[in-house]
Amino acid sequence: MKKQYEPQTIEQALGYLIEECGEVCAAAGKTLRWGPQSVNPELSREEQETNAECLWREMRDLSGAIARMRKFIANEETNGGWS
Ligand SMILES: [Mg+2]
Repeated sequence: MKKQYEPQTIEQALGYLIEECGEVCAAAGKTLRWGPQSVNPELSREEQETNAECLWREMRDLSGAIARMRKFIANEETNGGWS
């Protein structure tokens, strides 16, 4: 993630977590609907990736979002906020 997009607050981290959950759902739905080797025909060849590649990429993004949220929650727990 580019530094300027890094969540600065727990609310931003939660928003990022929600976004990535949605992106995993969309990628999983397309993989199930169209198959793991299918690509979006509306994209240029340079932009195309298979549904399986997209799903793995979004799962990695979600793992990062979970890790960031865990850090914010750990900090909030020491302050008594999210425990
Ligand atoms: Mg993503």
